[in-house]
Amino acid sequence: MNSDSDATRVVRAGLPDEEPYAPPLPGPVFAAHYHLPGDPAGAPYAYGRDTNPTWTGLERAIGQLDLPGEEPAHTVAFASGMGAISAVLLCRSRPGDVVVLPDDGYNLLVGMRERLEGFGVEVRTAPTAGDAQLAQLDGASLLWIESPSNPGLDVCDIRRLADAAHERGALVAVDNTLATPLGQRPLELGADFAVASGTKALTGHGDVLLGHVSCRDPELADSVRQWRKYVGAIPGPMEAWLAHRSLATLDVRTQRQAVGALAVAEALLARPEATDVRHPGLPGDPSHEVAARQMRRFGCVVSFTLPGKEFAERFLEALRLVDDATSFGGVRSTAERRGRWGGDAVPEGFVRMSVGVEDADDLVADVRHALDVAGASGTAGE
Ligand SMILES: *Cc1c(COP(=O)(O)O)cnc(C)c1O
Repeated sequence: MNSDSDATRVVRAGLPDEEPYAPPLPGPVFAAHYHLPGDPAGAPYAYGRDTNPTWTGLERAIGQLDLPGEEPAHTVAFASGMGAISAVLLCRSRPGDVVVLPDDGYNLLVGMRERLEGFGVEVRTAPTAGDAQLAQLDGASLLWIESPSNPGLDVCDIRRLADAAHERGALVAVDNTLATPLGQRPLELGADFAVASGTKALTGHGDVLLGHVSCRDPELADSVRQWRKYVGAIPGPMEAWLAHRSLATLDVRTQRQAVGALAVAEALLARPEATDVRHPGLPGDPSHEVAARQMRRFGCVVSFTLPGKEFAERFLEALRLVDDATSFGGVRSTAERRGRWGGDAVPEGFVRMSVGVEDADDLVADVRHALDVAGASGTAGE
């Protein structure tokens, strides 16, 4: 059944046809090889690096979420988000090509830039906000978009950038990790590749590393699948199964997270200690207007800046419902001072918070209390 409702679609996405006395979601298939009589041409399963029935189920499910309707997306699952990202960047790039990256995207893109340049690819960068990548597109072969960007939460007009890139003959990839397929559908906004880490909100329990690439065009998906075969960045069957199992709650989780994230962002706006409070769902946010046009949910991440490193550390220490941990998108709220990694261009007091599925009022109370504690011990001790 092809329901318009996300809640209905996620619970059955990718499940096999009903079969008496079989489980609705078959368990993980652990196999390095399969029984393979005769000619392997056309065999659906032959060797474990190429195909696995548990991946097939997950890939079908994500394809149906990335592109709902009669012609779902062709999806290729990877061992991690970086596996998926590097597959698209590397399998499409030849010496002399021009790749346009965001300069405020996921921090490992900086290292990817060096790798690409090492292969003779020209890399240009521009900020996500204000569609600044538009000015870099002449002669480009691939445009890489990350919207909303992590951790700054800037947003660009994906349709506008994709149209401009296509006019110049460039392909377009969107890192959709933060939004999830329920929050934003890059393929419907004109992207050729919707790429994401499944480690974050897609699976949502903080216990799996995974990634995927979805395409409308089966040939583009094939080029990515071939790359996976050569590089071998394949998901484990257990991880793929856990991910598929987790998709059934994607609507419930992201719905609740969006409510909590907005409540926390609004509570932070009312506090003088927090500046630059960012969340695309906040009506006054610089990202809101474009986000409201192209996103269906605004995600679970809130970012803000506290008065310095020590204040932020005291705040994180005083939180009782929010773990000091990296990553985001999980059912348990987490927050961290991004500056501790040294990779993002952010102030020392910059905090990225990921809102889980706890009660929104409890989270707001916890954040307010931690701000009080951080402020009080600061004046007493310094
Ligand atoms: C985490 C993340 C990645 C990398 O995903 P892994 O699963 O950790 O490899 C890529 N892009 C964004 C936006 C991310 O947040």
